[in-house]
Amino acid sequence: MSDILKSLIEIVGDRGVSNAPEELWFYSRDPGVLEPHLPDYVVAPQTTEQVQKVVQLANREKIPIVPMGNGMALTGLVIPLKGGIVMDMKRMNKILEVNEKARYAVVEGGTSQGVLKAYLQDHYPHLRHSLPDAPPVTTIAANVALHGQGRLTQQYGFNSDMVTGLEVVLPTGDTCKIGSPSLGPYWFSKGPTLPDLSGLFLGWLGTTGIITKVGLRLYPNKKIREVELFVTDRVELVPEILYKLTHLEMLEDLTVWFQPKPLMFKDNYHVTIFFTGDTEEEIEFKRKLIWDALQEFIDTKDGGFMGLQFMKEQLLEMPQRSVAEFADVPRGGGFEYSGPITLVEHFPQYAAKVLELAAKHDILYASTARIISGGHAMMFSISFAFNRADPAMMKRVKNALDEATEFALKMGGIPWKPNFMEQKMTMKKMDPNTLKLLQMVKKNLDPQGIMNPGNWEVN
Ligand SMILES: Cc1cc2nc3c(=O)[nH]c(=O)nc-3n(C[C@H](O)[C@H](O)[C@H](O)COP(=O)(O)OP(=O)(O)OC[C@H]3O[C@@H](n4cnc5c(N)ncnc54)[C@H](O)[C@@H]3O)c2cc1C
Repeated sequence: MSDILKSLIEIVGDRGVSNAPEELWFYSRDPGVLEPHLPDYVVAPQTTEQVQKVVQLANREKIPIVPMGNGMALTGLVIPLKGGIVMDMKRMNKILEVNEKARYAVVEGGTSQGVLKAYLQDHYPHLRHSLPDAPPVTTIAANVALHGQGRLTQQYGFNSDMVTGLEVVLPTGDTCKIGSPSLGPYWFSKGPTLPDLSGLFLGWLGTTGIITKVGLRLYPNKKIREVELFVTDRVELVPEILYKLTHLEMLEDLTVWFQPKPLMFKDNYHVTIFFTGDTEEEIEFKRKLIWDALQEFIDTKDGGFMGLQFMKEQLLEMPQRSVAEFADVPRGGGFEYSGPITLVEHFPQYAAKVLELAAKHDILYASTARIISGGHAMMFSISFAFNRADPAMMKRVKNALDEATEFALKMGGIPWKPNFMEQKMTMKKMDPNTLKLLQMVKKNLDPQGIMNPGNWEVN
């Protein structure tokens, strides 16, 4: 047994470490299109102290460490590009606190979305968090580490904007608290009015530290959720439709989607409008405001509300399972999306690009844009499905996604959860002084370059 393996077992116990080939195979890949790469060890800590000791060991021995939640980001962010240790955080899954009146929760760094959702439903049914449409096994810390977005993003910004404090093990092995928990027992603010140090970790894809605790804002969970679907075949009207809707300042979530299959959806743009209320009167009042806001498009016969019938239940699901059906995942299919953050007014150009790329590369597309904080930006997903058993198709999808990222950068957009190639494309386009600042931060926090190397690697 190697000395490293022995030391890892001493830290986390023999059930928390593996270098068995079948485990390493599993941790060498993700569900997206990037090539796998084997780690040397998988470690699953149960406490912050164990995380700290593993990081200290990795520092001494200069071994890479890749923090991992559930590995579902799709863009290869937990593929150990330079080998080393994959640190699976899922055994750190405790809910540590819910402060009901200040509306926040504190959870450990491997807690899944599903665990928090179920806990709130059971103990605080009038509170909720901003749930992404990712599978419930995905983790909260990972989601904020990549600036994820969820059901309440339309109202309150990225899920990372909802963080109220962090505990992080730095790449040197020191543990550090960020925000109000650095001054006392309360986890109500990650930054203001201190300098906001959370930006050193949020969005860094695990390259500047390992999040071991997260404080997260909770929001009122209204008794009734409702949905309306507005459809238009005039893509150039979509930004104006969204503008009218965000002016109402009362929607839970707002998405626009288009896809060629089944045929009833082809060539149409579907605006899904989610809203909530505590009484039927509140719901009907809001429904009227939504209908009134879009009446002009009905009058000009440019769009209309669609009867939902069987679709309603599916649309109201949280998270929505239909994405997996698009990719036919159970039968060996998959999908990956490039999801630039961009201006809502660019929707028509992005939509045209999706159609162009799908035709050029002969692949199946689906696209869903999510509006962020009342229309200040949107996440525009350019999604392509593939059959894992068809390497040529995987290659075509990969090429199309690369072209999508080039396009987004040309349009002034920001790639979201970019893979390591897209990160390089982004850094190439970045203002040189901004890049220099990025380099200073990274070099100071991670002088040995051991944290998720290959990602946000500024040379
Ligand atoms: C069907 C489907 C739908 C999706 N819908 C959404 C959606 O609506 N919104 C959305 O935001 N995303 C969505 N995603 C993308 C993704 O699944 C989510 O962003 C999810 O939160 C990723 O969590 P994970 O635990 O799988 O992360 P991982 O892939 O394990 O990790 C992601 C990144 O975070 C880093 N990381 C992980 N844990 C830590 C930690 N403790 N400390 C520091 N860094 C860490 C990793 O190194 C990696 O860089 C979707 C994915 C699928 C497959």
